[in-house]
Amino acid sequence: MIEPVAPSDETIKVVCRVRPLNSSEEKAGSKFVLKFPSDETISCGGLGSESRGPAKVFAFDRVLKPNVSQEYVYTVAAKPIVADVLSGYNGTIFAYGQTSSGKTHTMEGVMGNDDLQGIIPRIVQDIFNFIYGMDENLEFHIKVSYFEIYMDKIRDLLDVTKTNLSVHEDKNKVTFVKGATERFVSSPEEVMETIDEGKSNRHVAVTNMNEHSSRSHSVFLINVKQENTATQKKLSGKLYLVDLAGSEKVSKTGAEGAVLDEAKNINKSLSALGNVISALAEGNKSHVPYRDSKLTRILQESLGGNARTTMIICCSPASYNDSETKSTLLFGQRAKTIKNVVCVNEELTAEEWKRRYEREKEKNSKLKTVIENLQAELAAWRSGQSVPENEQVDVKKAGTEDSMTATPSTSMIGSMTGSIVISEADKASFEADKMKLYQLLDDKDDEINEQCQLIEKIQQQLLEQEELIAQERREKESLQADSATLSQEYDSAKDEVKEVLQALEELAMNYDQKSQEVEAKNNEYDQLNDELSQKINLLNSLQSELDTTKDSSLHQRKRITDMMMSLLRDLSDIGTIVGGNSAETKMVTGNSDKIEEEFTVARLYISKMKSEVKTLVMRAQALESTQADVNSKLSTAEKELDECRLVIQQHEAKMKSLQETIQDVDAKKRQLEENMDMLNERVVAAAAAEQVHVSAKEELQTSMDMKQALEAQMEVHREQHSKQLSSLRDEIATKQGLVDQLKDTNQKLTLALEKLQSDYDKLKQEESDKSSRLAELSLQRDRREQGRQDLMGLEETVAKELQTLHNLKKLFVQDLQNRVRKTSKKGEEDDEEDVGGSAAQKQKISFLENNLEQLTKVHKQLVRDNADLRCELPKLEKRLRATMDRVKALETALKDAKEGAMRDRKRYQHEVDRIKEAVRQKNLARRGHAAQIAKPIRPGQHPQPSGNTPQGIRGGGVVVAARA
Ligand code: ADP
Ligand code: MG
Repeated sequence: MIEPVAPSDETIKVVCRVRPLNSSEEKAGSKFVLKFPSDETISCGGLGSESRGPAKVFAFDRVLKPNVSQEYVYTVAAKPIVADVLSGYNGTIFAYGQTSSGKTHTMEGVMGNDDLQGIIPRIVQDIFNFIYGMDENLEFHIKVSYFEIYMDKIRDLLDVTKTNLSVHEDKNKVTFVKGATERFVSSPEEVMETIDEGKSNRHVAVTNMNEHSSRSHSVFLINVKQENTATQKKLSGKLYLVDLAGSEKVSKTGAEGAVLDEAKNINKSLSALGNVISALAEGNKSHVPYRDSKLTRILQESLGGNARTTMIICCSPASYNDSETKSTLLFGQRAKTIKNVVCVNEELTAEEWKRRYEREKEKNSKLKTVIENLQAELAAWRSGQSVPENEQVDVKKAGTEDSMTATPSTSMIGSMTGSIVISEADKASFEADKMKLYQLLDDKDDEINEQCQLIEKIQQQLLEQEELIAQERREKESLQADSATLSQEYDSAKDEVKEVLQALEELAMNYDQKSQEVEAKNNEYDQLNDELSQKINLLNSLQSELDTTKDSSLHQRKRITDMMMSLLRDLSDIGTIVGGNSAETKMVTGNSDKIEEEFTVARLYISKMKSEVKTLVMRAQALESTQADVNSKLSTAEKELDECRLVIQQHEAKMKSLQETIQDVDAKKRQLEENMDMLNERVVAAAAAEQVHVSAKEELQTSMDMKQALEAQMEVHREQHSKQLSSLRDEIATKQGLVDQLKDTNQKLTLALEKLQSDYDKLKQEESDKSSRLAELSLQRDRREQGRQDLMGLEETVAKELQTLHNLKKLFVQDLQNRVRKTSKKGEEDDEEDVGGSAAQKQKISFLENNLEQLTKVHKQLVRDNADLRCELPKLEKRLRATMDRVKALETALKDAKEGAMRDRKRYQHEVDRIKEAVRQKNLARRGHAAQIAKPIRPGQHPQPSGNTPQGIRGGGVVVAARA
């Protein structure tokens, strides 16, 4: 129980502070219209002011000129209150004035700046300094609250969830803000931290801080409780530090609509303050309209109650603000007359109570005797007796014994007088009714507060829900877009697959064509082979014929030479015979025989020469014709050869292009397969997402089910995917096998083709050689024929000669018979050799040899090419293997990546859960301020940083340590 002890009447202290003209006022040409006749007076109006009235002088406890320092303002206006509060008195400092008149500058100033900081930080610092220098036996508990009043709603600045607190009365009829957060603090730093927190909360809640601060009242409450551990004496003091809303009139701000309502509401609470002050100033304490606003309700004790109150009225000196300044000064003037009843708040000990009880009892008995005396006197008066003046009871004398009991005692006396008794009873019942009604009002306030909090919560939930819905909607849209793109991609992939299949078909067709061509070539080759064998047979037969003809010609030549030899021998014999018997012949036949003989020999020679020339000419002609034939044949063969080469080159080029297309198609196929994989995956994912979304849409509240469904779907998808993958892999393997087979056959075919080509070339050349040889052979045959004819001609001539010889022989025989019986023989010489022919043969042989060489060269070239190709084959195989390996590696990498993604997802989920849990716990923790730990502070303690020591700071302990 707190009871006022030794109360004393004190007026509210009013200090007027005038700020300097600011730069915008100077620019606007405003003049400084305030004058300071003394330290306690200020004059306003008169010349230069806008109100044009006579200058009015206002007197206050102190008037602070624009140039005073913040520290000076503190010393004058606030410093005494620190000692009061720590002695168990209540205190209040509030700043009143129009917006931008310097209220916040005065109360808070520039926090953290030693020169510019305002009253609140200085007071906080001083309170602690004071405590540190006080009696060691004192233990202090300091707690602070910080709230603002806006539109007649109390908002807790230390807990943003409390937006509409209510004002209650405790059992001593002292008002307090119910449910306001109370922070126990043990150092100035902690207080400043608390203020910072409250300020930041205030900033977060509003968009325009300047406007908001000019329309709301901010209240900082410091509650100090102290206990003397030696005497158990307990004192408590409350200090309200109030920065009021701007006091300007609404018309000046030009507000409209909701803003106007707001302004009116603020002005309402300010006008309620004005009304309370007016009522108090008029001394009408029976009904002060404290309950008109929350502000006045809170400040009930500060205005006309138990508190040392200082009001700082802040003024602008500018002529523009003249009227506002005047009304502010008037307000201060009125407030100055308010009397407060100030006393120490002390919680009494049991002994004190006993003493007081005894005293009261004593007083009671005294009063009883007085009453008895009075009753006796009254009875005497009523019975018509008169009581002499010296015997009359001196009520005044008895009453002044204790001024406290004076009023109740008179009222007690009054209650005993008949007619007034009823009215007093009525009064009491009215009072009780009033109390009840007030109680009801408070309860309603509580209810309103609860409802407000509920509304706030529901609104927050609504906002969250809306956000969730929006998020869901966005997700849905994105999913839809994804599915659309996926289906598009799927279609395009389908088309591509179709194209690839078509290309494959074309390739297969091409391949068939090529194989058919190869078959045709094979057939051709077979035919050529057949022809070749036929030709070879023919050649063989011709060769044999040639051999036989050669043999026969040789034979004939031999015979001819033999014949010639015999003939020559005969002739020589004849010659010798003729020469040996010339004398006899001369004598027998004379000159005529000799001439005839010579003549016949010459004739023979001539005829022989003629036939020889003839045969030579014919042979030359035949040779020329054969040469022309051979030339033409050669040229045609060359042409054919060229054509064949061209065809081969074309085929080779075709083969190459085909191989390239096959490779391209392979690559395309692989790419498309990969694309197919990816697209299938995406389609599956999209389908899953769609399903998930549908399910999500249906059951938003059952997210767990959704998650399970998701997981099940994921499982299904995984299985599907693995199946697809395996089937695709099988397909790839079969395709690879097919490709390998095709490559092998292709290579085989190319090799066969090359071989065929080379064979074909060889055969062609052989054929040409053979044909040329054939031509030569036919030429030789012709020559032989000619030789035979020549021989025939020769034989004829020989026969003729033989005839003539025979005749001559006859004559000769006759002569011989006549002269010598000797037989004579005749011979002829025939020396013919085919020297030219042998030269031609030599030429031919050399030609054939050349051809052979060329052929061997070509053969070697082909063998080399084949070897190169064989070398190339392992390289290609290696490359193929490398690509296969790469495909495998990519597959494994894909698998790994998928597993990684799954793991990441799980981790992410885990993280999200963890964060949610953390946020929940943080929220819980934020609401857990209710359980506060008291931090007792003891004097003698040195200022130390705001380390949160839960067990409290016992100054005595520190002192002891210092002493030690
Ligand atoms: P209010 O809280 O009454 O609306 P402020 O305290 O915010 O007004 O002051 C408005 C401006 O004037 C601030 O920028 C402040 O720094 C300045 N100001 C106020 N009083 C003084 C003063 N006595 N000396 C210097 N500047 C001041
Ligand atoms: Mg302000």
